[in-house]
Amino acid sequence: MIPCDVCRTHYKEYLSANPVSGILDIDYRSLKTFVKTWLWNLHNIVNTGNDKATFAYDDLTAKYSGIPVLTRLKQLAAPIQRAMTHNGVRLLHWKAFENAAKKQFSYS
Ligand SMILES: Cc1cc2nc3c(=O)[nH]c(=O)nc-3n(C[C@H](O)[C@H](O)[C@H](O)COP(=O)(O)OP(=O)(O)OC[C@H]3O[C@@H](n4cnc5c(N)ncnc54)[C@H](O)[C@@H]3O)c2cc1C
Repeated sequence: MIPCDVCRTHYKEYLSANPVSGILDIDYRSLKTFVKTWLWNLHNIVNTGNDKATFAYDDLTAKYSGIPVLTRLKQLAAPIQRAMTHNGVRLLHWKAFENAAKKQFSYS
């Protein structure tokens, strides 16, 4: 799903050093922190590699809490689905995906 060769290679290295294989066993109360920390750390490693300043963990909430995640996901549904299909991933129908996400993250 990552078109840039360099970024894709770095992502694979990061994924291998920071596996998410146990994510389904993580208690739902810890899941948000796990995902947030995993992505924040990845972005900071890329920042460092590009000689950019790192981002403070404590600033994440102020920066991202106002973002309507479900709306953004719906806006990005078409390109995400195209990328997944291109990579041979079986697609859930959007409604099934939304229902699974609602169940997992308890939003309505
Ligand atoms: C998996 C992956 C691997 C990548 N690898 C590379 C690579 O190897 N080389 C490369 O040049 N680019 C890489 N990129 C792209 C890179 O992350 C930047 O998006 C890109 O360089 C454009 O930089 P930017 O300054 O426009 O935006 P970004 O640096 O993406 O900044 C966008 C916003 O994110 C905020 N932000 C910065 N750090 C964090 C953080 N730690 N947590 C949360 N928010 C933060 C910034 O304040 C800013 O508002 C990768 C992207 C992905 C998704």
